This record gives sequence, C-alpha cells and structure tokens, in this order.
Amino acid sequence: MKLSKQASPSDSSHTQTATIPQPDQHSALLLVDLQNDFFPGGALAVPGADILIPLINAYIKHFSRHGWTILATRDWHPANHSSFTEQQGHWPIHGVQGSRGAQFHSDLVLPPGMMVISKGTDPKKDSRSGFDGTSLADRLEDLNIHTLYVLGLSTEHFVKHTVLDGCQRGLHVVLLTDATKGDNHQKEDSPNALQEMTDAGASLANIGDVGIPASSQ
Ligand code: ZN
Repeated sequence: MKLSKQASPSDSSHTQTATIPQPDQHSALLLVDLQNDFFPGGALAVPGADILIPLINAYIKHFSRHGWTILATRDWHPANHSSFTEQQGHWPIHGVQGSRGAQFHSDLVLPPGMMVISKGTDPKKDSRSGFDGTSLADRLEDLNIHTLYVLGLSTEHFVKHTVLDGCQRGLHVVLLTDATKGDNHQKEDSPNALQEMTDAGASLANIGDVGIPASSQ
C-alpha cells in the first residue's frame, strides 16, 4: 500500500500521511450524482467530468467483483422544485424526475441491483447531502457498513456535504479524489473543500491506495 501523495490533477495541492483503510465487507462505494446534468452538456455541468468515467468504472468493477455494497445518489426533483431559478431558487432546472438529464451517464457500467438514493424529491426542500432527508443512513446501518468510499460530482457541493455528514455520523469516510471533480468557480473551491473534509476526519485516496490492481484501472 502506498500513501496518497497527490489528489486528482485539479486538486493536487493536498498532501496527507494517514493510513488509508482497505475496503472489505463492511465498506460501501457511494457514487455521488453521476447524472447527465452534471456532466459536460448538462444543465449544471462540471467541466471535464467525463474524463473520470474509466476510473469510476474501475472502482465499480472492483467493489462489484468482491460483492461489496455499491450505492448511488441522484438528484430527483419534481419539475417545480424550489431550488430552480424560476421558483426563486439558485439553480437552473436540473435533475428532473424521469428526464434525460437525471439519468446516470450512459458510459458508466453500473451493477445490477445497485441501490439508488433519490434526493430533493420534495418540491419545497433541497438535500444538502446524501444523508439529508434520505434513507442512506438507515441503509448503511442495516448493511453494517463502517467505511464509506465516496466519489463523484461535485467536490465543493454535494460530495463535500455528504462526506462531512458521513464523518459526523461516525463513519470512516474515504474520498476517492481521482474520481471526484469540482466546479471550481473560484480557483480555491476544491482545495478548500478537501481541507474541510480532512479536518472533519475524512481520508483522501487514489485508486492505487485501495488495493485495485493497475491492470483493472
Ligand atoms: Zn438539485
């Protein structure tokens, strides 16, 4: 096992020395918002997010092969959701239930039976994190999950709040930085988000840190 010296190319300023836990049957992989609307061409696109897909598929394949839990969050808004600008919210229309933009990116190789956590389904409420107003915590408890490996979009919004809430709930959270990307509207957004997450107790890791052989990357 090598220690993570570098995060993803866009988030390369972080260094860390803590030991990274290796996934086992008490681990789950959480895919955050890998929906068309958050990829280039989508309503709230994270620039360059599509380059993550081969790595994301390698993580999925590894967890899948070992029979470890894989879950995915998705924005699943009604058409009149309060977060949309036309409802005096802050975001363009995105993640609308049943729309193409709300579908998972078609290049992802998702396992059959993957658990999907829908969020933002109440027109009046938005979810700050994957734990906010969803069944995620109950699911993880039922499955006896202690360590949560998180990847997805985008670093400084949903990924960050999901990681912070996971830490607060006593989970060991490992952020897979090479399969996570930020909007970086401000240049320091992603590095600051990573700092907040590690301050809360999260570990940062790349694919080589979690026992995935180079041949499958
Ligand atoms: Zn949303």
